This record gives sequence, structure tokens and C-alpha cells, in this order.
Amino acid sequence: MIEIRGLAKSYGPRLAVGGIDLVVPRGRIFGLLGHNGAGKRTTLQMLTGCLLPDGGEIEICGIDLLHQPALAKAHIGYLPETPPLYRELSVDDYLIFAARLRGMKHSEAAAALAQTRQRCGLEAVGRKIIGTLSKGYQQRVGIAQAIIHHPDVIVLDEPTVGLDPTQIREIRTLIRELGDSSSVILSTHQLGEVESICDRVQIMQDGKLI
Ligand code: ATP
Repeated sequence: MIEIRGLAKSYGPRLAVGGIDLVVPRGRIFGLLGHNGAGKRTTLQMLTGCLLPDGGEIEICGIDLLHQPALAKAHIGYLPETPPLYRELSVDDYLIFAARLRGMKHSEAAAALAQTRQRCGLEAVGRKIIGTLSKGYQQRVGIAQAIIHHPDVIVLDEPTVGLDPTQIREIRTLIRELGDSSSVILSTHQLGEVESICDRVQIMQDGKLI
């Protein structure tokens, strides 16, 4: 589902990702584990097409991301570390907006909304304003916008950071369920997180997979 070869990125003189190779097969939950500054976020930003690499190749579902970005990105759902939420919108309005951004017609978006709300446990808060929700619920909305178009590949950047223990447990359960139908790649600096959710793990340090 994801294949990366020789992926590299520097910020000026600072090497952030130093030519990594990575393969994530279909239907796996894959963890990228590393300390702060290891290069995890830079890697995820490149493999979601948000940041142009200095070198290397990225294939998503067999599609070259750098040469056919729109086609490849249609297969990806992405939750950045800070969820891209419009805090003044209701949950439903925001998710419809996310679905429309993904090119769905109104009728498709309404059906996708109902299914996604159910998958993410958001049925009771559809009409609530996002800014009034707890952090755990805001994280669910962030995951919902990432999966509303049924992507084959779901990319989650530190999905449980800043949540309380109950919220962490709920989000981890949700991520495990997502792994039944999609390939999931997530970054974390918590060993316990990869142990409890992931099928496979790669450890990253100073821009290298070790
Ligand atoms: P964290 O968990 O702290 O986000 P990370 O493993 O995700 O860490 P990155 O955010 O990818 O790591 O950062 C890798 C290196 O690149 C770090 O040394 C960081 O300071 C540097 N870096 C990241 N973004 C930029 C930027 N926009 N400009 C300059 N340097 C950057």
C-alpha cells in the first residue's frame, strides 16, 4: 500500500530525513516510533504529499505520488498532529465540508457522514460546535475527516498526544478498527502505543530507520 525508496529531506543544513526505505503492506497497522526531532512528522508530511522531498520515491497503492499527486492522494486520509478543524463549525457541517473537498456529491457526502459518525462514535455530537467538544472528541472528528472518503491508507501523526487515559484507550480502539479495512501508519514516541496498537514497528532516529 505504501512503498518509499530513498526518501530524503533537509531544512537548510539540517538533515531531517536521510534516505529511508519503507514498505507497509495492505491491512497492517504500522508504527513509526522515535524521539522528538527524529524525523517522523517530516516523513509523514512527505508521504501524504504535503511536503516535497529533496529526493526519493513514494508509491501509494502503486501510484507514484510525486508524478500523479492528485490520483495518489485520493487514496490517503491524513490526520496531522494538530487536527485541521474549523472550531466554529458543527461536527456535521465540518464533515460534510471535508467530504465535499474530497470530491463527493451532496448525496454521497450525506451517506458518508452517517457512516463515519457511526464509526467514530460521533452520533451524539453531530450538531455540536467543534470548539465546545472535549479534546478526545475533537480528535475523533480529526480522524473522521481523515476517513470520510474511505481511503486505503490512513496516516495519523501522534494521534493520542495530549489525551487523557480514557480518551487514549478509546482512540486506540478506534485505530485498531480502522486497521481492519485500511492500512494505517502512525507516528508516536510512546513504546506502549506501538505495543498496544501496531502489527509492525520501525524505530526512527536522527532521520534514519534503525
Ligand atoms: P516531533 O515528535 O517533535 O514532532 P519528529 O520525529 O516528528 O519530532 P520532525 O518534526 O520531522 O521530527 O523534525 C525532524 C528535524 O527537522 C528536527 O530537527 C526539527 O527541528 C527539524 N525541522 C522540522 N520542521 C522544520 C522546519 N519547518 N524548518 C526547519 N527545521 C525543521
